[in-house]
Amino acid sequence: MTSKKRPGLVDMGKNLYQSLTDVVEQFITDGSLMVEENEYEDRMAVCRECDSYDAKEHRCNECGCFLSVKGRLLAVYCPLYKWPGDALKAMQEGE
Ligand code: SF4
Repeated sequence: MTSKKRPGLVDMGKNLYQSLTDVVEQFITDGSLMVEENEYEDRMAVCRECDSYDAKEHRCNECGCFLSVKGRLLAVYCPLYKWPGDALKAMQEGE
C-alpha cells in the first residue's frame, strides 16, 4: 500500500547522508553494522502495514530509502519511529 509521495532528490540525499553518518558512528562506536535477520523481518512486517510503504519498489516513501538495505542497518530509524525499539532509541539520543 502507498499513498505518500516520495521526497525529492535533495531531501533523499539529505536522508541518505544522515543514515550513512549514523551507520559510520555506530560502527566506530561498537563495531556493529547490521541487525539480525529476525529484527529485519520485524521491521519489514511494520513497513508492509504502513501507508508510506511502496511494495512495488520495496521503498519507504517518507525517506525514499530502499528498505532491503536500510531495514538491515542497526543505526538507522524508521522516519516515523514505527520500527520496534525506535521510539526508545530516539528518546535516548534526544531526538
Ligand atoms: S520505514 Fe517507517 S515510514 Fe517507511 S514504510 Fe517502513 S514503517 Fe513506514
